[in-house]
Amino acid sequence: MTFQCLSLVFAGFVWLANPLQAQQASVTASPASAPASFDPAEATKAWLNTVPAEKRAKSDAYFEGGYWLILWNFLVGAAIAIFLLASKWSARLRDFAERTTNSKSIQVAIYAVGYVLIVAVLSFPLAFYQLFLREHQYGFATQTFGPWFVEQLVGLVVAFIASSIALAVFYWVFRHAPNSWWIWGTLVAVVLSFIGNFIAPIYVEPLFNTYKPLTDAKIRDPILAMAQANEIPVKQVFEVDASRQTTRVSANVSGMLGTTRIALNDNLLKQCTLPEIRAVMAHEMGHYVLNHGAKLTIYFGVVALFGFGIANVAFDWAVRRWGQRWDVRGIADPAGFPLLMLIFLTFAFLMTPILNSITRTIEREADQFGINTSREPDGEAKVALKLGAYRKLDPTPLEEFIFFDHPSGRARIQMAMDWKAAHLPAGNLDAPEPATD
Ligand SMILES: [Zn+2]
Repeated sequence: MTFQCLSLVFAGFVWLANPLQAQQASVTASPASAPASFDPAEATKAWLNTVPAEKRAKSDAYFEGGYWLILWNFLVGAAIAIFLLASKWSARLRDFAERTTNSKSIQVAIYAVGYVLIVAVLSFPLAFYQLFLREHQYGFATQTFGPWFVEQLVGLVVAFIASSIALAVFYWVFRHAPNSWWIWGTLVAVVLSFIGNFIAPIYVEPLFNTYKPLTDAKIRDPILAMAQANEIPVKQVFEVDASRQTTRVSANVSGMLGTTRIALNDNLLKQCTLPEIRAVMAHEMGHYVLNHGAKLTIYFGVVALFGFGIANVAFDWAVRRWGQRWDVRGIADPAGFPLLMLIFLTFAFLMTPILNSITRTIEREADQFGINTSREPDGEAKVALKLGAYRKLDPTPLEEFIFFDHPSGRARIQMAMDWKAAHLPAGNLDAPEPATD
């Protein structure tokens, strides 16, 4: 279980075009210093027009395919949950756990491992298509099947550990608060997701990638300067070898207090110029300075409370109706876990536009912080085009509302060009700008 929305990863695929193309675009579409007649709407159009039609068609197809994958993932997840209940596999797994030990918590942990294993096997065909075949089809993946599959197995072991601990805590709460379980359950969900996000960079991410200090002063020092100007307590920048898995350009700021870490990936370093790198890193710093981790935890806590409230009603209703047939005794019985998952999956599926809009709003804030800090409108536009290799560049407003967890390329370039057109003074006291003219 990963909380993609909370990971605050500013990710994308490298634009596979000749890098010079983006370079030239800055000259033709938007000169370095904007003239008085600079029209942001025209400049936005000019940037978008630098992308050849067939590239646009390909990235649109990739992203629109993702809309259908949301539906397929929901349907497959729901079908597995119903199958586990109706076939009584879930009840049998609980019976096995009860025969093995008398400790309720260990019974739940055993159930969790069995459940995760069954779901992983049954949903493997869809995962294989989505994460391996499709990524190769579009030229984004860099791994052959062997290393990819080994990583899936490592991820499965992480899921065994995380889910057995999480479910043991949840079911302890469900046993001790049979009526108010949904309120306490929300609290546990928030605390566990917070802990998960806190320890993932230390214990989970190193299982898949290597982080090492960035030594190139030409890149490191301008990034550290922006961090210093914004009171971000870091002394070094880390580089992560993401090219092992993907051609995505990405960076992130993670950790808390003494463990704060700024990391950028090797794709970003290889494929982007310094202005683009500064634009991306300033965006990431925006997440940190604007306390987005805490804000998202609160927002999703509210959504989770709503979800648990619905689950409270729906779970009881379903157990009254089908509990005997499924051999599910009640909320404290782990055999009912697939029912709980079915309710949450349905809720999350219906909430897709709301969840995406929460994240997109946060990302927009980080973009605004980023452009003010990096002061690189053209760098921002170039990166937006590179991210456009996998995210539809110019969607309809309804499409953006429903499916976009980050602003579209068009929205990002428009914001950068608006910033550029505003001609903000640098605030240099030695050569003050006239207040009026
Ligand atoms: Zn972001």
